[in-house]
Amino acid sequence: LTLFDNVTENRISVCVRKRPMNKKESAKGEVDVVTIPNGDIIVLHQPQVRVDMTKFLENQKFRFDYSFDETSNNETVYRFTAQPLVKTIFEQGTATCFAYGQTGSGKTHTMGGDFSGKKQNASLGIYALTARDVFEMVKSPAYRKKDLQVYCAFFEIYGSKCFDLLNDKNSLRVLEDQQQKVQVVGLKEELATCEQDVLDLITKGSLVRTAGTTSANANSSRSHAVFQIILRKEKKLWGKFSLIDLAGNERGQDTRDSDRETRQEGAAINTSLLALKECIRGMARNSTHIPFRQSKLTMVLRDSFMGEKSRTVMISMISPGISSSENTLNTLRYADRVKEM
Ligand code: ADP
Ligand code: MG
Repeated sequence: LTLFDNVTENRISVCVRKRPMNKKESAKGEVDVVTIPNGDIIVLHQPQVRVDMTKFLENQKFRFDYSFDETSNNETVYRFTAQPLVKTIFEQGTATCFAYGQTGSGKTHTMGGDFSGKKQNASLGIYALTARDVFEMVKSPAYRKKDLQVYCAFFEIYGSKCFDLLNDKNSLRVLEDQQQKVQVVGLKEELATCEQDVLDLITKGSLVRTAGTTSANANSSRSHAVFQIILRKEKKLWGKFSLIDLAGNERGQDTRDSDRETRQEGAAINTSLLALKECIRGMARNSTHIPFRQSKLTMVLRDSFMGEKSRTVMISMISPGISSSENTLNTLRYADRVKEM
């Protein structure tokens, strides 16, 4: 299969993707402060103020496995991030792909795409592109005889609560059994027999996720969405791919947020993103102690962190404008820490 000529053997890879300026930013004449001189370096021109109050730009340079500029599309990003991991789940491993970044930076665009998969020329995101290759593999000569079944699950982690996006936002409990296996109790797994089945499930779950986002406490940017493609052979788990659209990582609003619930949400997001960073770092080091119990998000990913055959990719999304530069710097620093071993 030509699908895998881009395979790297890294257990963890970390990439960044810069989105194009949007109409609003262009209309305001916002300065683009992010440049990507080649395929791996990214430079942030961070505005600074001297003691005498004159302003200047300070260059902050980072290097990642891949840095995608504003001209790259979802297909390209997919090809160098999640696609090489499809093989992992066919080899009975676990694969995880995270989209990280501030609200508005392109996480949902990258993962979910334009999720009305029925539309012609709809832009497919990483959920759908992964599903397409999973079915190609299932039907390939190498795996056809194995008779693997493809299931999908889609749920949301909101604070310390979990909701099933394929089952009326049913509340789900996360439990750890005596063997330290973590179960999302009652999570619905839908059988998919072709790519279109998966597109329909993505559309269904995405609509459930974003329904009611106008009310402050149902804002989808404050929750983590977990889309899973699960391979089973005679009902037994074969491999699992978790594709995760993380909650917005923006900080600094917590003290200003007057309402208690919003403050608590912010705290829960910070806790889970910090726990995630520690778990990925632990996994990269083959550490025997991975602090997965620190948050719901890391709890439900326990088997992905602890599995012997597990691989992870993080895509950090960047907004180009000067008004986002503080959040952009935080995102780049976080990604840098995840990568560093
Ligand atoms: P997030 O999920 O991180 O909050 P979104 O994915 O919703 O951000 O993106 C915010 C807006 O920017 C959306 O309208 C989306 O379509 C657009 N957008 C994001 N990334 C891109 C991109 N690479 N190319 C074109 N439009 C993009
Ligand atoms: Mg989003």
